[in-house]
Amino acid sequence: MNGYFVTGTDTGVGKTVLSALLCRALGADYFKPFQTGQDSDTSEAARLAGLGPERLHPPACVLPAPLAPSQAAELAGVRLDIHQVRLPGTARPLVVEGAGGALVPVAPGQDMAALMARLGLPVLVAARSGLGTINHTLLTLEALRLRGIEVAGVALIGEPDARNRRDIEKLGRVRVVLELPRLDPLTPEALAPWAARLELPVTVRADGALVRSRDDGVVDAAMPAPGLPEPDDRQTRAPGPDVLEMDRRHVWHPFTQAGTAPPPMQALRGQGARLFTADGRELLDMVSSWWVTCHGHAHPAVVRAVAGQAARLEQALFADFTHEPAARLALALAEALPGGLTRVFFSDNGSTAVEAALKMAHQYWRNEGRPERRRFAALQGGYHGDTVGAMSAGYSSGFYAGFEPLLFPVDHLPFPATWAGDPDADEKESQALAVAENYFAVHAGNVAGVILEPLVQGASGMRMARPGFVKAFSEMARRAGALVVYDEVMTGFGRTGTLFACEQVGFAPDIVCLAKGLTAGFLPMAVTVTTEAVYQGFSGQTFDRAFAHGHSFTANPLGCAAALAGLDLFREEGTLARIKALEAVHAQRLLALAGRPGLARPRWRGAIGAVDVTGSGVGYEAAVGRRVKAFFLERGFYVRPLGDVFYLMPPACLAPAELHRAYDTLEDALKTLD
Ligand SMILES: *Cc1c(COP(=O)(O)O)cnc(C)c1O
Repeated sequence: MNGYFVTGTDTGVGKTVLSALLCRALGADYFKPFQTGQDSDTSEAARLAGLGPERLHPPACVLPAPLAPSQAAELAGVRLDIHQVRLPGTARPLVVEGAGGALVPVAPGQDMAALMARLGLPVLVAARSGLGTINHTLLTLEALRLRGIEVAGVALIGEPDARNRRDIEKLGRVRVVLELPRLDPLTPEALAPWAARLELPVTVRADGALVRSRDDGVVDAAMPAPGLPEPDDRQTRAPGPDVLEMDRRHVWHPFTQAGTAPPPMQALRGQGARLFTADGRELLDMVSSWWVTCHGHAHPAVVRAVAGQAARLEQALFADFTHEPAARLALALAEALPGGLTRVFFSDNGSTAVEAALKMAHQYWRNEGRPERRRFAALQGGYHGDTVGAMSAGYSSGFYAGFEPLLFPVDHLPFPATWAGDPDADEKESQALAVAENYFAVHAGNVAGVILEPLVQGASGMRMARPGFVKAFSEMARRAGALVVYDEVMTGFGRTGTLFACEQVGFAPDIVCLAKGLTAGFLPMAVTVTTEAVYQGFSGQTFDRAFAHGHSFTANPLGCAAALAGLDLFREEGTLARIKALEAVHAQRLLALAGRPGLARPRWRGAIGAVDVTGSGVGYEAAVGRRVKAFFLERGFYVRPLGDVFYLMPPACLAPAELHRAYDTLEDALKTLD
């Protein structure tokens, strides 16, 4: 950090005066991104702080109407976008002044707080002293903190009032860095002496850099603020090396060979499609953080839902209790899923959703008095999670060779992976269906269930099948009496272009597993949803018919609240239309790359685009994948190829232009690989 963002509890409270004072105290430059109205705050700040033109940075946009930025922009016929605001380059500290207060609209879906979150500077709040200030100040602090914005302090401007100061510090858990009386006349000379009175939690180094003092500005950390979640500032405050050192000593990372892997990147913040790291990088998350982030990181609507829920009810055991978020989510899922999938069983993650589905199918037939139905079939290459049952179902995905002795047998049937321009697609499908036909003919009466990833097999390399095949296979399994389980842990929540992949298949399974995007990527939670018929198969007068399965955090209210907020966003933000736009980019760019030597099997569906980078080692740790990943990282993209399969699966909020840039980068990378 090298500066502050100045906002106010209202307009006209003294933001510009505070900004000018900060410029004096810190030797800082001044920047007001959005200037509305006829009076220029930039020249006023210059006058009060005595700033020369070299320390004034021109606004990104000047709008003549004295209105909220979004309204002033509407009148002027322009469209503002906070993503276009860049902090000016300067070696000196920087003071950025907002327009209006934190929740003032800037553009559709963007308010001033979103700009603050994006710029990442600690925020100072200018507040008017006097009646009403406690309420206005606490509301502003709460709004900022719920958006993950760091509050550095409050300045009270007007008649000093010791009681207001005390209560704001105590209830707002914030430092009042200044009480500044109204100066009349407001001259540079009158203002100057107050610079020395600012009590900021930083010192200015000789080279102009700001250094945080140990005192972090939180006055009374032991005092709980009612209804106000405390942002965990420790993580953003601890210097990078300490976190990495603690991690190096005590953390065991997933899917990582610690002996050869570089140290992890320290993520500080996420916003939209971006992750910000402790070493100052800004990375576009092109894999949706392992396929969970569907609307974007730290989406304010989900943040608010989770925070609000946490302050009401964080957990209640689900064997004897229910609660509104779980009941509402179950209804919402029942309404969103096709054909009779109306009973929702909650668990913790994709693997447990799969375990529950397999156990459900097994016990269903036992309860029906058909214990001979206990075979399971799956499709070759399918991945279903890393717990023992899920590994059994997903054995052929190739991740588990060493664990074979632990697994139960599952029959793996061919999966006709296909791609754009595949001449053999029909042939492969009819062969796969012929094998399946034969299998079900031999084992009809013994198969409890089949499990498959519809349309796209994720972990085994974004292998895609056409809807017609998935439907024909599913119908065949159902005719043989098996329960059809769709593992939509990855494909659910818009990934393939519809809310669920089964919609495109045109087949309603008997059981569907959902996780990853379920909570908009905020919390680990999963559901296994089935039909009333399967549910009734467990009902009776004795416990041995019941489904004796459950997890401590079953239907955790925070996860349910996040999921409900995430579902609302699909409607409010036109998420599926956004994904359509991304799909069009995948199609255009992958088709253009199709004939290129070194690339094979271009394929896309919804937000997912993939291509094999050939002529190299094959397998999960293929060298080409590592080189491509490093190439992209240097250019501000986070990708994680699956062996020699390069894929992009961004959150829906990614701008199509940014997806184009990712493909440009792929083209550049291929030149270096040649
Ligand atoms: C990721 C995944 C799982 C496992 O989910 P976890 O939450 O990682 O346990 C299961 N099935 C599919 C298709 C997946 O992509």
